[in-house]
Amino acid sequence: MGSAAAQIPTSFGHELRACRRCRLVKTYDQFRESGCENCPFFNMDADHERVVDCTTPNFTGDSKLRIHIYISTVRG
Ligand SMILES: [Zn+2]
Repeated sequence: MGSAAAQIPTSFGHELRACRRCRLVKTYDQFRESGCENCPFFNMDADHERVVDCTTPNFTGDSKLRIHIYISTVRG
């Protein structure tokens, strides 16, 4: 407890998810309908359970990490 959770809308079907491989962020519906443009081999549009397997709703931590690396690179 005590950690500040990111405020992300989680209504079913419009949940934001990030591709586990390339970190592309779209809604669940968008992944289900067209898959990940960068990772077509996941076949998320063919099997909707693949969307759950290949994407994650927990991408905020990774985003912060990437931002930190970016800033470090620019300043270094
Ligand atoms: Zn992807």
